[in-house]
Amino acid sequence: MTVPNGRRLAATDDIGVTSAEQWRGAITAPSIAIGPGRLVVVAPHPDDEVLGLGATMAARSARKAPDLFSGRGPGETGATDTSTHDPSDVVVCVSDGAASHPGEVAPEEMRGRRKAECEAGARELGIDLRMLGLPDGGLSADAVDAALHPVLDELAPTTVAVTWSGDGHPDHHVCAESVRRWWRDARARGRGGNGDAAGDGGGDGDGDGDGDVTLLEFPVWMWHWASPGDADVPWERLRRVAADDRAFDHKRRALAAHASQLEPQSSAPDATVILPPAVVERFFLGAEWVFA
Ligand SMILES: [Zn+2]
Repeated sequence: MTVPNGRRLAATDDIGVTSAEQWRGAITAPSIAIGPGRLVVVAPHPDDEVLGLGATMAARSARKAPDLFSGRGPGETGATDTSTHDPSDVVVCVSDGAASHPGEVAPEEMRGRRKAECEAGARELGIDLRMLGLPDGGLSADAVDAALHPVLDELAPTTVAVTWSGDGHPDHHVCAESVRRWWRDARARGRGGNGDAAGDGGGDGDGDGDGDVTLLEFPVWMWHWASPGDADVPWERLRRVAADDRAFDHKRRALAAHASQLEPQSSAPDATVILPPAVVERFFLGAEWVFA
């Protein structure tokens, strides 16, 4: 399988990587508002949803159910929709995340940890969670289609967001392509909203039509391997999703729930840390970002 920008992701180390501060000074894009109705965020791995759209989901949860976060401490939020008829947003996590620390933590151990982390993060964002439990690192198009498409049919999102197909990670690519297939099929059935947005451009991505489905893709690893103006990134499709400081506080706490990705999982001097602080900060750029 050829993964767009996979070679660049594989080659990246921490030297010469664009810092969060550099991104903040360089990145501009038109704003986009994600419309009412259900947003479904498809995460290839536990934590992709928080990294990409955590603040957006927290802000939407607070709008849909204004009492959701009031009077409760961090981590005690629920996803019960009590005050509006707008259906709650849902994260669909495709893989089990068990392959994040090969040779350091046994996959069966990591599988349980990441499930608990993903559930805690979802509570912090006030969203519902579906975990499909496919094997991390080896997602195939057929397996993802078979597991994911019926769930998307059932959830009937107004907006579906998935990792960017060009993000460089094979699982991110496979999930993006699968969601795109579902979206094209939904469009053929009369529910597609923003033209061929993820393919050759041309849609407006506003999702404002009755029964339409808007497709958005969010970058995760792009922030690590790309630089401002990078020729491998479709900047003309980039849109800014506004979120306030409170929403970013929820994002920060939801990400903290994914401790296995933030802290070494063994005492070995070269123990892997997937998301060291400099990487984390690239997901706090004053807004969240999608390709429409
Ligand atoms: Zn991922």
